[in-house]
Amino acid sequence: MSLRNKILFTDKISNIRVIKAITQVADSENLKVFAVGGFVRDLILGREKNDLDVLVIGSGVDFAQSVAEKLGITNVNYFKNFGTAHFDYDNMNIEFVGARKESYDRNTRKPIVEDGTFEDDITRRDFTINTLAISLNKSDFGKLIDNCSGFTDIENKLIKTPLDPFKTFDDDPLRIMRAFRFASQLHFNVDESIMIAAKEMRSRLSIVSQERITDEFLKILSSPKPSIGLQLLFDSGVLENVFPEISIMAGVDQRKDYHHKDVFLHTLQVVDNICSETNNVWLRFAALVHDIAKPPTKKFVEGIGWTFHGHEDLGARMMKKIFHRMKLPLHQLEYIQKLVRLHLRPIALAKEEVTDSAIRRFVVDAGEDLEELIILCRADITSKNPIKVEKYLGNYERVMQKVRDVKERDQLRAFQSPVRGEEIMQICNLKPSKKVGEIKTAIEEAILDGKIGNNYDEAYKYLMIIKDQFLEN
Ligand code: ATP
Ligand code: MG
Repeated sequence: MSLRNKILFTDKISNIRVIKAITQVADSENLKVFAVGGFVRDLILGREKNDLDVLVIGSGVDFAQSVAEKLGITNVNYFKNFGTAHFDYDNMNIEFVGARKESYDRNTRKPIVEDGTFEDDITRRDFTINTLAISLNKSDFGKLIDNCSGFTDIENKLIKTPLDPFKTFDDDPLRIMRAFRFASQLHFNVDESIMIAAKEMRSRLSIVSQERITDEFLKILSSPKPSIGLQLLFDSGVLENVFPEISIMAGVDQRKDYHHKDVFLHTLQVVDNICSETNNVWLRFAALVHDIAKPPTKKFVEGIGWTFHGHEDLGARMMKKIFHRMKLPLHQLEYIQKLVRLHLRPIALAKEEVTDSAIRRFVVDAGEDLEELIILCRADITSKNPIKVEKYLGNYERVMQKVRDVKERDQLRAFQSPVRGEEIMQICNLKPSKKVGEIKTAIEEAILDGKIGNNYDEAYKYLMIIKDQFLEN
């Protein structure tokens, strides 16, 4: 490391208030302390970081308590079983851990933990880029300790394990996911040895809780270019274990002169495209799964070629099981289902003559997610032909113009029959029942079909005409 870099980051950390307190307490208690892990890695990479991991050669919990007292912090979380403690200060999350040595039981990823030396603690860490430490004691403040060539690996943008990756992954298989997650977040490569071990060890992921796997998966999806992590998951076969429906999208079938686009590669491109438009991980997730039912609906039709009839509906229906299995937050299910189900609708509406009522139905079906659906549709354009891209984008622009026109006319956003359920009950002398809903739906359908205008007077008149026919049967 050049001297210049070292001075730069020594200066940077000496201004952090919590670090000043850490140095003082450590020196007065005669303890060795270090900044470690992601904080050091990201400092070298010039990424601003609010998480600080502090390694203490001694008790992390007692040390955290002393530092907290010095700073007047009362809100400290102690995890005595893990030998860690945590508090927030100046917008930073500070985590304290005592140096430890870990050994593993093959059936769980929970280590058996003993007190250890600095070296023990550093080598138990997952990747060399996370093994760097910076001394925080006054005598050698800012000194970088690099026992596993982590600095060179950061320079070479390489994810590598400090020990044999077979052992690293056997001890804690979640690290397989973490390797790909870091590669995706940092735009790094993973060492060949990691790929070999991941391929062989992937079934060990079964001992890891689904929540942890899903958390890493969503971090990949939240990274600037998720295709990096997704491709690594695929190449190592891990995707088959963690998200098989995406994994089987890969490959192309050829019959006669017909082949179709590789759905997996297309999907990666759509995901990357959408990432330049949104940080909303659920919209990104929708991009990932929008064609998920292409493999199960694929059919070869003589004279036409490959078809994927109904993949949008089946895809939406597949989501529930996937959400449960992957322990994804269920309050996002409906949103994802909606985007998957509707992702072809704007294309259909761009074609030739489209009636106002088709546009109205689309506006009502998409509801408040209409803009995001269009972002998805635009990202779905992966043609390499600029003329086609131009044409498709123009189509969506036309659809959106029609939407704006119809909306302006109808004010459909919070669409509901202008004659409300209460009033229907009064006029028709009905108690709350299914029939009230049926009558209301009939009024709404008439408005969507353009038979009557979206206003109270016309809805009332229409109710008078249709009510008897509902009340008869
Ligand atoms: P980020 O916070 O950006 O996700 P990080 O490197 O800080 O990245 P954390 O999960 O916060 O990652 O963990 C802090 C440090 O603890 C890591 O840098 C690594 O040294 C170590 N570590 C975390 N999880 C593991 C693990 N499963 N196996 C080994 N070491 C780990
Ligand atoms: Mg961290």
